[in-house]
Amino acid sequence: KTFEDLGLDERILKGLSTMNFRKPSKVQERALPLLMSNPPKNLVGQSQSGTGKTAAFVLNVLSRLDLSDQMRLSPQALILAPTRELARQIVGVVQIMGQFLDGLTIGTAVPADSNARPSKMEAAVVVGTPGTVQDMIKKRIMNPSTLKVLVLDEADNMLDQQGLGDQCIRAKAMIPRDVQIVLFSATFPAHVYRYAGKFAPNANEITL
Ligand code: AMP
Repeated sequence: KTFEDLGLDERILKGLSTMNFRKPSKVQERALPLLMSNPPKNLVGQSQSGTGKTAAFVLNVLSRLDLSDQMRLSPQALILAPTRELARQIVGVVQIMGQFLDGLTIGTAVPADSNARPSKMEAAVVVGTPGTVQDMIKKRIMNPSTLKVLVLDEADNMLDQQGLGDQCIRAKAMIPRDVQIVLFSATFPAHVYRYAGKFAPNANEITL
């Protein structure tokens, strides 16, 4: 299997080719066909850091964007991560893989940016930490009504930090019901598995 076999847009393949990946990793090979299927279906995936899960969910996010003039500043994908460092790393991957998509806009919603916080989050892809994102939605800085995909990365680390899991649930309660929900976690002890079931109901599941 190659990336070309996965039905990705030419411009996305071109962005991907700058990363010099020879072929899809195991998690990419298993997750991408499920993630990119239509109608979109929720996905719960077990995957350690270093297996290529970031590229898997970023490729799906990029594939689902509408970058027309009317839509390119409206949030369409929201990616939640447990730390601002991870959020920034994910932004970097979105930038590289999406570099040939004209009109792509990316916003970061993390606590350190609060001084310079925009009065409006105008970006097709928003990557952030749960508390800041939830606050931006509540204060109407970010409009969640146009979201199509919600990704929760490192769900187990989210649940290890006081309140983060609840903030993700609250953020999810403020977005449209029909968004595709994608959850990745390195491990699935019972409490994480229960959370995943609640956060991403009726999901396809993959374990590596
Ligand atoms: P992640 O699991 O998302 O934290 O990715 C771990 C590392 O694997 C990153 O440095 C990626 O650049 C790299 N990577 C992701 N997908 C592939 C691939 N298909 N082939 C080679 N390296 C990859």
